Amino acid sequence: MSNSDGSNCSNSSNITSNSNNCDLLIKNANVVIPKIGVIKRNILIENGKIKELTNSSDSVNYSKSINANDKYVLPGLIDPHVHYGVFSPIEVASATESKSAAIGGVTTIMRMLRVYESYKDKISKQLEASAKNHFVDYGIHASILNFDQVKDISYLFQSGIHSFKLYMNLGSTDNRILMDMDPYRNLHLPKNVYVSDELCSSVLSESSTFKNSVVLVHAEDHNTCANLIEEKKLAMSKTEIRTLDTSALNVKNNSSYHRNDNPLDLWSKCRPTKSEVIAIKKIGTTARQFRSNIYFVHIGSNDALDAILYERQIGGCNIYVETCPHYLTHSVDFNNIRGKVVPPLRSKNDIASLWSAIKNGIIDTIGTDHVANTLSLKSGENNDIWTALAGFPGVATMLPVLLHYGVNLRQLPILRLAELTSYNTSKIFGMFPKKGTIQKGSDADLVIIDVDLVQKVTPDLLQSSSDYTIYDGIRLQGWPITTISRGKIIMENGIVFPENLGHGEFIGSNNHFVKG
Ligand SMILES: [Zn+2]
Repeated sequence: MSNSDGSNCSNSSNITSNSNNCDLLIKNANVVIPKIGVIKRNILIENGKIKELTNSSDSVNYSKSINANDKYVLPGLIDPHVHYGVFSPIEVASATESKSAAIGGVTTIMRMLRVYESYKDKISKQLEASAKNHFVDYGIHASILNFDQVKDISYLFQSGIHSFKLYMNLGSTDNRILMDMDPYRNLHLPKNVYVSDELCSSVLSESSTFKNSVVLVHAEDHNTCANLIEEKKLAMSKTEIRTLDTSALNVKNNSSYHRNDNPLDLWSKCRPTKSEVIAIKKIGTTARQFRSNIYFVHIGSNDALDAILYERQIGGCNIYVETCPHYLTHSVDFNNIRGKVVPPLRSKNDIASLWSAIKNGIIDTIGTDHVANTLSLKSGENNDIWTALAGFPGVATMLPVLLHYGVNLRQLPILRLAELTSYNTSKIFGMFPKKGTIQKGSDADLVIIDVDLVQKVTPDLLQSSSDYTIYDGIRLQGWPITTISRGKIIMENGIVFPENLGHGEFIGSNNHFVKG
């Protein structure tokens, strides 16, 4: 456990600025510095920034100190994939979900914003309602859902938003999706969206005129998925009619679709990996045309990874890959509609492939695809796989899941974990070296972890607005115990201090990292 060992206020009034003064001192830390190593140092923090890493803390004057007792201190995690503001307006969601982020050692969340109208009309109100309501820092990716919004890209770019999302899964008969709510109005906003090949091309073309913009891609082919969903729904309804007929005669029917089949297996078959492969090939070809930077969100299957590797080998564009914690822990065997997500959970073999890709550097980042919904909303009208909502919460469990299943069970190096959860993410999205490392001048976004601490997951522990989690009841070993955002202690031992609401700031993008 970390323990604050008191303030030294009598000294602080006499302090003139010198290298041994600081606001916050973290003593005896095993500092995890991505690409450099794990080094034992004391961390001096002043004005929200890392001031110095020192060997000795003997002559340091500080206002407050924490003894890390040789625990690891990581760069605060960056979650590049968070949906909040869809089921409650952003001024509410930013408080609840950034609180949950702080519980999980996440110091920057990137919102996957969806609006249907022009961003010129929408973005300032969204930013206004977000300000003063976050515990931790936040950035924004803007979803481009129609041709009118393509014209907003330069405006967004000037506003510090350099990343744009394409939903290749939306179209055909599978096209309905909730937009983010308007601030201060608790009203769901469903829209029908059609993401055509022309729209994809137009977004890549326009964004590529801005240096180092990134296009995030949800890679599923909507034609393939929509057709299979329609087919299977029809087959199931016919089976049910036949079952009713035949049960009266006590005749066994042998149709392949039953209402009580594993719903997640059915969902995975309706959205097969081949639909991901089709979309990856298509967008890879277009991205090459414009030498774009593309970022595949939530990759969860071996087939998708293979397709991405193939596109990378051809070259001509930068390709980044994100996976999510749930694809590293859950397969269709979870057999519970709480696990409905797009793309779907897959097989145990896919889980194994993803862990290798995590270890060998094929995967660049981990994002949670956190969806701040509740179980009653999630379950849908009929509590079946068709009407259940896709997505579930995850921002608070990312780090414990990676510590438990990765560092503790699979010997994932702690340095690699830091690369995946902060360093690479900050470079790709233009926040480095402000974020994503622990070095002189960087924001003091830090998380102290206890790799031995075991806690049983409950929704209460995670403090999101969601009242469920797919990790409910699982005992995870390895938790963040202190979360520090720009020098301020936001969370300590599972307690988020309410007075820090509003500390979080909007982080626009600056320079970008381009892979060699
Ligand atoms: Zn998402």
